Amino acid sequence: MAIPQRPLPQPDDATRPYWEAARRRELVVQRCGSCETLRFPPQPMCDACRSMTVECVRMSGRGTVFSFVVAHPPVLPAFQERAPFAIVLVELEDDPRLRIIGNLLDAPAEAACIGLPVEVVFEDVTETVTLPQWRPRGR
Ligand SMILES: [Zn+2]
Repeated sequence: MAIPQRPLPQPDDATRPYWEAARRRELVVQRCGSCETLRFPPQPMCDACRSMTVECVRMSGRGTVFSFVVAHPPVLPAFQERAPFAIVLVELEDDPRLRIIGNLLDAPAEAACIGLPVEVVFEDVTETVTLPQWRPRGR
């Protein structure tokens, strides 16, 4: 029996620039065009000033693990081969208020710990979909 494909992002007007940037191997977040507050995840309106004006700015791709969980079987069939794996919530070095979730790659799940320095890595999942993920930094 074929392994079902893993769930993929369904870009909309607000999130499409984020996914397109990931395809180019760039990590971007939104910056309000009025008050310049950075925000993530992408959304149409600024929570700080309610402006709908927005631009995308590139982040360094560096951060630290703020929190994590390790997924053990049973997991969805699409994730069975990679389990156990760590899912990390990463606080960005550029702005610690911004936290992005992803998988910890290039390391065993046991390597995940709070405060672990990580950097973004881009995982091509299909011809058109690339996911920003994370790997330990400085090795
Ligand atoms: Zn604003």
